[in-house]
Amino acid sequence: MPQNQHYKIILKPGREDSLKRHHPWIFSGAVKKVEGNPENGATVDIFSAAGRWLASGAFSPQSQILVRVWSFLQEEAITPEFFKNRLKKALFSRKQLFEASPTNAYRLINAESDGLPGLVVDRYGDFAVCQFLSAGAEFWKETIVQLLMEMFPFKGIFERSDEDVREKEGLQPQKGVLAGEMPPDLIEIQENSLRFWVDVKQGHKTGFYLDQRDNRDFLGRFANEKDVLNCFSYTGGFGIAALKAGAKSLINIDSSANSLQIARQNIDLNGLDTQRAEQMTGDVFQILRRFRDEGRLFDVIVLDPPKFAGSVNQVEKAARGYKDINWLAFRILRPGGILFTFSCSAHIKPPLFQKIVADAAIDAGRDAGIIQFLSQAADHPIALNFPEGHYLKGLICQVD
Ligand code: SAH
Repeated sequence: MPQNQHYKIILKPGREDSLKRHHPWIFSGAVKKVEGNPENGATVDIFSAAGRWLASGAFSPQSQILVRVWSFLQEEAITPEFFKNRLKKALFSRKQLFEASPTNAYRLINAESDGLPGLVVDRYGDFAVCQFLSAGAEFWKETIVQLLMEMFPFKGIFERSDEDVREKEGLQPQKGVLAGEMPPDLIEIQENSLRFWVDVKQGHKTGFYLDQRDNRDFLGRFANEKDVLNCFSYTGGFGIAALKAGAKSLINIDSSANSLQIARQNIDLNGLDTQRAEQMTGDVFQILRRFRDEGRLFDVIVLDPPKFAGSVNQVEKAARGYKDINWLAFRILRPGGILFTFSCSAHIKPPLFQKIVADAAIDAGRDAGIIQFLSQAADHPIALNFPEGHYLKGLICQVD
């Protein structure tokens, strides 16, 4: 078990404001002095320049974010008991959300927003898939895995710590079984009335876009008897929701043939009509242009692209990308048609996203209204002290 040495971080004068508001990140530029020689992920105490204790956190010497806060309570020691309490709290909130639902796949731990910076734990049926994305989460990995096995009857815990962000924390990518059994290549999950195969070993992130659950559900209201175009479909999430709701036709587009293969299997898994669905492997930008040139029209279009802006410097370029696909979508929607449009880039703020979509509609010569604002599902909470946790935003627009 990791030892709790007492290392001290002393901030520069006037740099404690964000901590007083309980923001969990301390940037290296705010730090005057590090006392002792804490190893990567070790627990440190943070003091103001005037010597007041402010928080305890995990030290990450290679990152711009030098410390991620574990606790703002001086009496709360960072021990296995601390992690047990945080896990318990998160599990309780998920129990409230899903107890009365057949859904057996959801985010159990949403990192900073569940008070556990850098730790993501997703449940897929009998298995958990984890990401340890910060030095502190990595430091406490064994403790966390042990606690999860004690608190939840998982058959196995699988690690997918293969995101680029680990590099910034001085950590190597890691993938494999952490406890219990190796999960099968595809795990079957239930999401409301839908079933999906999830590839937790090779799929994106931990295997599935759980954050879109509520929005997939919403799509069902608009899909009956409609021609639906699902862009950036991955394994077909929105497409399955549309078919289940009675869509007349569905096209899934994704650049990954593997993802579309699973999308096809998901149609079978739900006993839906494969004749009504087409899988197109290719680039959404190009295919939408082709549809526009061919005069193809749709009643409902979903745009759920990957993160176009990974950092602040990429916002402008990303905005052009979002505008382009939204403009194309507005060009190929039938009168009265519905657009579900998303951005999962945290750096693109909701007002900017709305402006991009508005500009796209004007340039496409369409009048449209927002009929619903969308966000990430409730198992992806956003701590009030951590607004950065709000990354997914979406609009349902109806064109005239
Ligand atoms: N809507 C999906 C998640 C989409 S993730 C769901 O609910 O599950 C984004 C997807 O876009 C990924 O599957 C990725 O393979 C695909 N993608 C990325 N760039 C693309 C492009 N230019 N054209 C088509 N697909 C692309």
